[in-house]
Amino acid sequence: MPAQLINGNTLSQQLRQDVATRAAALTASGKQPGLAVILVGDDPASQVYVKNKVKACQDNGLYSVFEKYDASLPEADLLARIDALNNDARIHGILVQMPLPKHINPHKVIEAISPKKDVDGYSVLSAGELMTALPGFRPCTPYGCMKMIESTGIDLRGKHAVVIGRSNTVGKPMALLLLQANATVTICHSGTPDLAYHTRQADIVVAAVGRRNTVTGAMLKPGALVIDVGINRDEAGKLCGDVDFASAVEVAGYLSPVPGGVGPMTITMLLVNTIESAERA
Ligand code: NAP
Repeated sequence: MPAQLINGNTLSQQLRQDVATRAAALTASGKQPGLAVILVGDDPASQVYVKNKVKACQDNGLYSVFEKYDASLPEADLLARIDALNNDARIHGILVQMPLPKHINPHKVIEAISPKKDVDGYSVLSAGELMTALPGFRPCTPYGCMKMIESTGIDLRGKHAVVIGRSNTVGKPMALLLLQANATVTICHSGTPDLAYHTRQADIVVAAVGRRNTVTGAMLKPGALVIDVGINRDEAGKLCGDVDFASAVEVAGYLSPVPGGVGPMTITMLLVNTIESAERA
């Protein structure tokens, strides 16, 4: 039997209804939740991402500010803008779209965002809160993946999860969230000699690599739950993930598609984090 698809659009719609209700309640109490999105440069993919984030705010009753700057923007000017937004009471979340132009230090920029407004969850403080299981902002993509896994009703206790990828924004926080949910976690990366050896033992596979066909059906344990985070293009220019959908769907028990999987969930969790920030403010 083919895998059951985990539809990120449907799950997002459900979660966004709750977001819109909470946004309306905050607005009625005079505290409309607000997100500031900053884009530096003209990266085409980034332009699409920020447009979708701003639209999601507008559609769900959040106030949003979008600031777009030329790629030549000096680092000091960007830091000054962040400082102003840190002190702007209408703003509860600040997102600086990555990647930034080479002359701007991304770590400096992330650390300039007030911890109270770090809705992307990328700061060292947020990473430490995740590591120590303290409340805090969880990075939106792995946070969304966890919601997708939860939606299947599968209890992670006693399950073996394999995360492919160890970036600070996806792979590492994903592994920590799975660990907190009591899964036994293996992290694979470009130096892992036999990826299939690990994935074949996995009850849960999360692929966050950025290379298509990294995971095929032959590399999966029958019935496995597979979350595909990757965003790639095939030869025809069509959007695809890291998982070979055609072969994986025949072996997996659950599979998230690309598009329509993790992508919409990432934006939804950004809204959730912004609402939580406003509720805390
Ligand atoms: P990244 O920073 O480039 O990290 C990729 C990771 O994959 C690295 O840890 C790398 O290992 C590992 N890797 C590379 N080749 C591998 C191989 N052959 N076998 C096993 N591991 C391998 O990328 P990222 O930011 O984590 O993003 C990963 C993918 O997710 C990208 O396609 C990105 O576009 C997508 N993404 C999607 C969303 C969404 O909302 N849908 C959000 C964020 C990212 P090393 O550490 O050893 O180099």
